Amino acid sequence: MTLTDPTQALAELHAGNRRFVTGAQRHPNQDSLHRAAVADGQHPFAVIVGCSDSRLAAEIIFDRGLGDLFVVRTAGHTAGPEVLGSVEYAVSVLNTPLVVVLGHDSCGAVQAARDAARTGTPPAGHLRAVVDAVAPSLRRAAEQGVDDVDGIVDIHIAHTVEALLGNSAVLAAAVAEGRCAVVGMSYRLAAGEVRTVAAVPSVVPAQAGDRATAVAG
Ligand SMILES: [Zn+2]
Repeated sequence: MTLTDPTQALAELHAGNRRFVTGAQRHPNQDSLHRAAVADGQHPFAVIVGCSDSRLAAEIIFDRGLGDLFVVRTAGHTAGPEVLGSVEYAVSVLNTPLVVVLGHDSCGAVQAARDAARTGTPPAGHLRAVVDAVAPSLRRAAEQGVDDVDGIVDIHIAHTVEALLGNSAVLAAAVAEGRCAVVGMSYRLAAGEVRTVAAVPSVVPAQAGDRATAVAG
């Protein structure tokens, strides 16, 4: 079943994360029947723009399966052109109603950016591109007097939400039309829980007449 309501998509993610946290996973949509059913087309209900961290696998922490989540991951959930293009594909071609920026505590990309700023020495190779992309969030954190990594992570997640909307007219239009919402979540590695740190619009809208739908599985 296709899900087009941002509010319901968000509720499905929170429900799955709650199952994961409490050990009550259902592992939906992971069997061979479903694999065959989605082979002809996909209708994911959420885009996850997440950090690449190996402990942050979206389908596991939200207890979902094949065809449910359109996942784009980079170290520090940095959102360059290819990431923006991937998000726009999901939102405009697949009509996915929710985009989630997923960061986490103790993020290595944020730590690397902070270390580079402190020492004045950028990392070698292409890691520098990641550090440079996190740098605006570090500056914002400094302006707010925030110096701990997890505090900077929250600011960086909110900054990534703003950057997606500011750099993608396609996404901004979908949000303005109420077809999509963008939510920033911070994940705690040890507890397995997500916490909302940013949302546009601030109250994620429900679409009239769409409340009775549910995600299969
Ligand atoms: Zn990370």
